[in-house]
Amino acid sequence: MPIKLFDSLTREIRELRRPDPNNPKDVFSFYNCGPTVYAPAHIGNFRTFIVNDVLRRLLELEYGPDKVRYVRNLTDVDDKTIKRSRDEGRPLADVTKQWTQKFHDDCARLNCLPVSEKFEPTATGYIREQVDMIDVLMKKGNAYRAPDGSVYFKVSSFPNYGTLSRVKERELKSGSAFAADADEKEDLSDFALWKAHKADDGDNAWDSPWGRGRPGWHIECSAMSKALLGDTIDLHTGGVDLLFPHHENEIAQSECCNGTKFSRHWYHSEHLLVDGKKMSKSLGNLYTLDDLQNIMMLTFNPSAVRLALIQAHPRKQLNFVTDSLFDANNALSGLSHRYDALKTWAKDSNSKPRSSAEPSAHYDGVIEALSNDLNLPAALAALFEQKRDQDSDHAGKLLAFERALRVLGLKIKSAIHLPDDELAADVAVLITAPTAPLNITALAEKRWAAKQAKDFAGADALRKELTIAGWSMLDGKDGYKLEPIKK
Ligand SMILES: [Zn+2]
Repeated sequence: MPIKLFDSLTREIRELRRPDPNNPKDVFSFYNCGPTVYAPAHIGNFRTFIVNDVLRRLLELEYGPDKVRYVRNLTDVDDKTIKRSRDEGRPLADVTKQWTQKFHDDCARLNCLPVSEKFEPTATGYIREQVDMIDVLMKKGNAYRAPDGSVYFKVSSFPNYGTLSRVKERELKSGSAFAADADEKEDLSDFALWKAHKADDGDNAWDSPWGRGRPGWHIECSAMSKALLGDTIDLHTGGVDLLFPHHENEIAQSECCNGTKFSRHWYHSEHLLVDGKKMSKSLGNLYTLDDLQNIMMLTFNPSAVRLALIQAHPRKQLNFVTDSLFDANNALSGLSHRYDALKTWAKDSNSKPRSSAEPSAHYDGVIEALSNDLNLPAALAALFEQKRDQDSDHAGKLLAFERALRVLGLKIKSAIHLPDDELAADVAVLITAPTAPLNITALAEKRWAAKQAKDFAGADALRKELTIAGWSMLDGKDGYKLEPIKK
């Protein structure tokens, strides 16, 4: 199925390039602007990363996992990271290492696929590449060195500047969009490629042909995508807040330096609102994953956060309220019943998918909706839709259901171990069993071990103990299930 996606540059829904399956070197190159590692990411950041994770999963499913190269950078030197390191009296690398680890932990909790170290570049790991690029821009006349040693990009040297963000129209409407952030610039719209060293930067400076300093923020993405993905990439994504000036500046730098198109396709996900308002520290609605955990306590389930954050179309604002996590928890538990039922029926009917290559048309609505401009609400509707049909291809349905869950990155806990055939019918309609307390689980484990060791007398005695404690244990081939005894 071709994958179609809105392109922020042409403002139309277009098909993404499909890499040549016969050419092992031809891969789909995908660059996603990553986090600045100085504090925990908030759920607005994670909305964007989860949307990109779904997109990556969809591309890998459609093109093959080794035909997609996904790069997500880490910004580890800028004003914010340096300020934090100075405030805490710790080396910059210590601070960024700590917050990189936290970001990875949170991503793992939200079930975002990991990015290998090679394809998760850091700005400080690519200083030479950034200096090389600035050097080319200087030689081509697209940049100039200011008296203090900073280097700026000369926006007037790139006639296409503003195409992505329509900044020129915006400027007319609302006055200047550009910050008067430095006296040294020739023009307000020019932006820094290299920042001359200041006392506040401490040790965080590198040598360059223009003197000691550090790279500007925008050049890092241009240099790292060039180094890892080449001069022209297939897809560049990020949150809508990066569209201007960050992505506009990336296009200007890359296209002037490389003399060719930078990205074939651009995609931006919209803002997350919390309680109907823009997130901000002063409103107290800037939630991190840990904040949600503190609010939800024992009912906290990161999969519910993921589900809540993919409810809306990624190109529309999503209003998050903490109550939506309860709804998401319920929805997940519904899915887990469905999963158990499908597993049971598939086993019960001993069916094999009719075609192992193409696992049934059921739940394909999920893939279809995602392939059509990443329509997440339509994909979820297809996932939750209960089709009461006569089709008995249970194994095919099961495969398709699992595939739909995988592409959405939804982890659901199965409430059961696969039971024996005689239990199948019961289990299919079972409500998720409450989790047994630890002492009960311990007894059950002991009994299971006794039974495996063919110590049937011991196993029976332990079953009695469980019954007295109010629990029944249903044995299957590969495990057991605990259920409270109804009174
Ligand atoms: Zn970027």
